[in-house]
Amino acid sequence: MAEPRVLILGGGPAGVGAARELARQGRGRALLLEQGAHFGGNAGSFEACGQWLDYGSHRLHPATEPEIMAEIRALLGEDLRDRPRHGRIRLLGKWIHFPLKPVDLLLRLDKSFALGSLRDMAAKHLPGRPPEGDTFASVLRANLGATICDEFYFPYAVKLWGHTPELLSGVQAKKRVAAGSFGKLVRKVLNAVPGFKKPGAGRFFYPVRGFGQISEAYASDARARGAELRLGWRMQSIEPPRDARSPWRVTAASNGATEVLEADHLWSTIPISVLANAMTSGVPAEVLEATRRISYRSMILIYAQLQVEQFTEYDAHYFPGATTRITRLSEPKNYSALGRPAGTTVLCAELPCTLDDAVWRMSDEELGRLLAEDLAGCGIPLPAAPLKVFSRRLPAAYPIYLRGYEEPFGILDRWAESVPRLLSYGRQGLFAHDNTHHALFMANAAVACLGGAAFDQAKWADYRQLFAKHVVED
Ligand SMILES: Cc1cc2nc3c(=O)[nH]c(=O)nc-3n(C[C@H](O)[C@H](O)[C@H](O)COP(=O)(O)OP(=O)(O)OC[C@H]3O[C@@H](n4cnc5c(N)ncnc54)[C@H](O)[C@@H]3O)c2cc1C
Repeated sequence: MAEPRVLILGGGPAGVGAARELARQGRGRALLLEQGAHFGGNAGSFEACGQWLDYGSHRLHPATEPEIMAEIRALLGEDLRDRPRHGRIRLLGKWIHFPLKPVDLLLRLDKSFALGSLRDMAAKHLPGRPPEGDTFASVLRANLGATICDEFYFPYAVKLWGHTPELLSGVQAKKRVAAGSFGKLVRKVLNAVPGFKKPGAGRFFYPVRGFGQISEAYASDARARGAELRLGWRMQSIEPPRDARSPWRVTAASNGATEVLEADHLWSTIPISVLANAMTSGVPAEVLEATRRISYRSMILIYAQLQVEQFTEYDAHYFPGATTRITRLSEPKNYSALGRPAGTTVLCAELPCTLDDAVWRMSDEELGRLLAEDLAGCGIPLPAAPLKVFSRRLPAAYPIYLRGYEEPFGILDRWAESVPRLLSYGRQGLFAHDNTHHALFMANAAVACLGGAAFDQAKWADYRQLFAKHVVED
């Protein structure tokens, strides 16, 4: 029997991972469409100012499933470097090392914060009230106490997701906050103490040509094995199959040219709301209405090229405080530690926003001023005016888990699952706040479910149970 034709929408990790695995296992003929100029999606990289830059701070976490880690190692070889994490958090006007170090907590932590946290920890061991409701605020308050929440997680959450913690779902806390309870937080601190250290704690993996090298390597390997991957091709509309034997017909455009592509299976890694709206027919009104009730947080990356060898020794700075508008600043040169280029470095600041709000429309000049003000406000001013400031925009950076989001997402999810030969997966497709290694895992799982022309929905349902246990790492 001929291999089924699988059309994949999106060339992020979920897309390129599936294209490669289909080709490697000979389970399907993959044709992938990516609208951008590079593979990797939000986890991609581009070259500017003589170095590789990512879309915000990206690291490969040691929590990566062993089989995915083995694949990445085989594809990247010596190009995948093992690096120590060396960041810091601006907490109440003081810098705390990240990963947490016991010495910092003892000597550098703001006294009222330290006492408040200890009081909260003691109170946690007394019989108390269970969390009221299932919101980001109630779950974290019950697990971490008021002090850490009010001073750290809650202002950070407002900046990251654009909503107060009371309006966010408890799921956001469980998925995103890796140190979800005092016990885990204490274990994290102990990880820094020799003797208590878990293997891989405080370290990360990073490729020499930027984080996007991971996806580029998957894409090259997929092509070498016969898959067709197209860059600069944007899906415009989708005509669902008329019956069980007819194909999907996808209209795609590139540089003014349009083409209609046919496939037996359609695998989508683009936002599920965009997927539903792209269908030319057959989508119930209730599903279209649900697309307006889920949303993704957008993000602007502000890059500033400086004429100095190094801005600081740290890979990343985290800014939970409400008065600093950016959430994180990374210095990509410190991630690969190759020392290139000589004499200059680039900073990358993450500024969450909403698609088309006033921040989204800011000019590079305004963004440069905002960055300079924020850094000066935190006591790390730019050493001189940057040589260059430029920006990149991610329309769908984070799924926003508003309280009750499960209902509209459930409608979309059930619709996608009910359409034969359609699969919506990856971070955008499953509305999952996941890491790159999770997206690659989903890609392999999808291929494992394709046997001949049929997609094994029951097996996929089992995989979905595994995906639900993913915890996002920062
Ligand atoms: C600021 C930030 C920091 C992060 N840090 C880390 C980290 O340290 N470690 C980590 O593992 N993960 C990190 N992540 C998460 C990581 O980026 C994602 O897990 C990963 O990108 C998900 O891959 P994906 O393929 O599912 O989706 P995406 O990367 O979003 O890929 C979807 C692709 O679909 C394409 N597309 C959309 N519409 C169309 C269309 N109409 N036609 C054609 N193509 C289309 C997009 O261009 C995109 O390339 C971070 C994310 C952000 C935003």
